[in-house]
Amino acid sequence: MLFGISKGLVQVKKPANRDRITNEHMQWHKTLFKNTCRYSLYTRTKLGYIFHKRQMKKARERYPAGHSKTQPTVINGIKIIPVPILSDNYTYVVIDTASNMAVVVDPADPQPVQACLEEEGAELQAVLCTHKHWDHSGGNRALKRRYMSCRVYGNAMDSIPGLTHPLSDKDTIDFGTRLHFRAFYTPGHTVGHVIYLLDGRAIGGPSSLFSGDLVFLSGCGRMFEGNASTMLSSLDTVGSLNDETLLWPGHEYAEDNLLFAAEVEPCNVVRDQKLQWVLQQRGQRLCTCPSTLAEEKQYNPFLRSHSQDLHRALGLQQKQDEDWTSYRARVLEELRRRKDIYKDR
Ligand SMILES: [Zn+2]
Repeated sequence: MLFGISKGLVQVKKPANRDRITNEHMQWHKTLFKNTCRYSLYTRTKLGYIFHKRQMKKARERYPAGHSKTQPTVINGIKIIPVPILSDNYTYVVIDTASNMAVVVDPADPQPVQACLEEEGAELQAVLCTHKHWDHSGGNRALKRRYMSCRVYGNAMDSIPGLTHPLSDKDTIDFGTRLHFRAFYTPGHTVGHVIYLLDGRAIGGPSSLFSGDLVFLSGCGRMFEGNASTMLSSLDTVGSLNDETLLWPGHEYAEDNLLFAAEVEPCNVVRDQKLQWVLQQRGQRLCTCPSTLAEEKQYNPFLRSHSQDLHRALGLQQKQDEDWTSYRARVLEELRRRKDIYKDR
């Protein structure tokens, strides 16, 4: 959870009457205002970093071995290791085992990342940072100090700590002959959010998408710094990628996200099967990633703004003079609002 920004105080469940709907809306606006103030402090002042350091310390004490159990995925000699950090974040260490070159995505806590690199005997080439929030970027500077030649990539609009290599949409980043990444500019969660696609063609396997806080298993990030149209366009970028692509999100939110998805698309069989699997995994604190984009397109409501079942559940209809993209943005906005106030049961 970001700087104590609450998931909401109100549960959205068939309001009994109009007064209740009005009260829920007022409560939502109050929560939104309080969260906006907290968000400014978190992103624009030193308090954000102080808060992050406190969260890091607490999480290290609470989860000395990490919040979840993970295991590496190896695709033709490219090793992807999810490193559980803080209370629900994942950093990803990507290693070409032939050359021992390593790249890390979103190293918010430098300690476990460094331990992983040392255990693997890999040499860090670069940090790929999806966005400025401390729970994704908090370890950039420490790693740069430890590994002198380490580059830090990200979007200049997002004030990424330690940034050395600012990126534009669709820039490519190559490390040796097999680690080829492409950055996609995906604003909405923050103004400079970027996702990274590791190209599977160079290694003869599926591509891997490191999606930061844009897309999670069955979810999407909050729209802190963009409107629904901007976010929709970023989500459509994900939707346009190959179905076999593996999804490596920035947080372990699968269980909560799938329970929410069940509220807005109750008859989705694929979602139901995934939820049963996720409940089993989480019962043993096992990591739930990666999923594939083919799966996500079937159950992730934020990638399904076209779904008529979803429209019905949200009580929305396309207006006569409304084009399809504007309507889908309105669906996404309502969906995100519902998720913001959804209370975990
Ligand atoms: Zn974030």
